[in-house]
Amino acid sequence: MKAAIETIMPALLRTVGAAGVYARTPVFEEVNDRLSLLISRYREPATEVLHFPPVMSRQLLETSGYLDSFPHLLGCVSCLEGDEMKIRSAVESGGWLTTLKASELVLAPAACYPVYALQAEVGRLPDEGRLFDVSAFCFRHEATSEAGRLQSFRMREFVCVGTPTQALEFRSRWIPRARQLVERLELPYEVVAASDPFFGRGGQLAASRQIEQSLKFEMVIPIGSAPTACMSFNYHLDHFGSTWSLRTADGAIAHSSCVAFGMERLVLALFANHGLDPWQWPAAVREALHLA
Ligand code: 5GP
Ligand code: ZN
Repeated sequence: MKAAIETIMPALLRTVGAAGVYARTPVFEEVNDRLSLLISRYREPATEVLHFPPVMSRQLLETSGYLDSFPHLLGCVSCLEGDEMKIRSAVESGGWLTTLKASELVLAPAACYPVYALQAEVGRLPDEGRLFDVSAFCFRHEATSEAGRLQSFRMREFVCVGTPTQALEFRSRWIPRARQLVERLELPYEVVAASDPFFGRGGQLAASRQIEQSLKFEMVIPIGSAPTACMSFNYHLDHFGSTWSLRTADGAIAHSSCVAFGMERLVLALFANHGLDPWQWPAAVREALHLA
C-alpha cells in the first residue's frame, strides 16, 4: 500500500529546528538496522569493515580534491579558540560567529574518502586488490530540502581499490547484485547513467565527461511521486590512485570504484512503497528484512 511522502515524512521523522535535519523514530531505525543487516549479507568475502565517525580530517579531504569539485557542499567544523576571557567576550558580545576558527575537521561528505588515505599508509596492494565496507553519517550543504533530501544522512559504501579491471568488474558485479536486493524488497527501480553535482560552470564539463565515460550510474526509486537516487555505482578511474600514489602489486597506479547506499532514502522508499506499518508489508519483503 503506497503512502504519500507528505504522510510518511512526519510519521517517521521529527523536525528538530533545521531544514533537512531530522530525528528518527524507533520504527524508522528498526527498518534501517534490518536493511543494514540485509546489505551486509551481500558483502563479498575478504572485505574489511570500518565504521567512520561523522567528521574527518580537513587536510585529507583537501588532498582528495573535494574543494575543486564540490566546495558548495562542504561543511567545516569551526570552534572558538583562545583563553577564557577571549571566548567569554566573543560569546557575550553576541559576535561569536565572526570569531570562529576552522578546526582541522570537516564533516564527512561521503563515506569512502578515508579509505584511499588508509591504503596509502600500507604500501602496494595485494594481487587481488582490496575491498572495504565503510559507513558514516554524511553532511552535505544542500541548497534545497525537499522530501528525501537530508543535510545529514547515513551512507554505506562498498569500495574496491585495485587494477582497472578489478575496479570495473567490482562495479559490474554490484549492479546486478543491487538489482536483486531491491527486487527482493519489491521496490520499483531504474538504473540510469548519472553525474555528480560538480560546482560552477566548469563543473558542467566534468558532469558531461562523467556521463560520456559511463563513470556513474544511479539506482533511482520512487519516493512518493519523485524518482530519487538511492544508490550510486561509481568508477573513479585513477583519481584516488594518482592522488594518494596507490600502487597495484605490479607497480601501476591503482584504480578504484565504490557502490554507495543512501540509507535514509532506501528506508523512506520502503515505507513510501509498502505503507507505514512494516509488519503489514508483503511477506517476501518482511522475510528479506527478517521482520518476523
Ligand atoms: P553520491 O555520492 O552518489 O552523491 O551519493 C550516494 C548516495 O547517498 C545517493 O545515491 C543517495 O542515496 C545518498 N544521498 C546523497 N545525497 C543525499 C541527500 O541529500 N539526502 C539523502 N537522504 N541521501 C542522499
Ligand atoms: Zn565512494
